Amino acid sequence: MGILDTAKDAVQLVQKIDNIELYKEILNLQSEAIKLVSENTALKEKNRVLEDKLRVKDTLVFKDNSYWLKREDSEDGPFCTLCWDKDQKLVRKLMDDNDRWYCPTHGKPSPVFSIA
Ligand SMILES: [Zn+2]
Repeated sequence: MGILDTAKDAVQLVQKIDNIELYKEILNLQSEAIKLVSENTALKEKNRVLEDKLRVKDTLVFKDNSYWLKREDSEDGPFCTLCWDKDQKLVRKLMDDNDRWYCPTHGKPSPVFSIA
């Protein structure tokens, strides 16, 4: 039985005793339990997201000005380095009409000028 079920049972038991002060206290306790369960759920989700990012970070390889995800016998990518370094978002690069990779968040790469 979870803490919220226990609190609910306690509220019902205290109702039978007919002590208004005790009843108010047990209702406060139940309310606090609901808040803690909600916070705990949010923290578990936050932790899951952080663990996911950590797992991604461990498999990222920097190559050709991009990040790549290591797979068993291949690489997935390329992904934008700025999006990951700044926001820990894995944004897949796209290819423009000139066969050059660009980030859909940061836009197309600047034109390449020849030094000659
Ligand atoms: Zn980007």
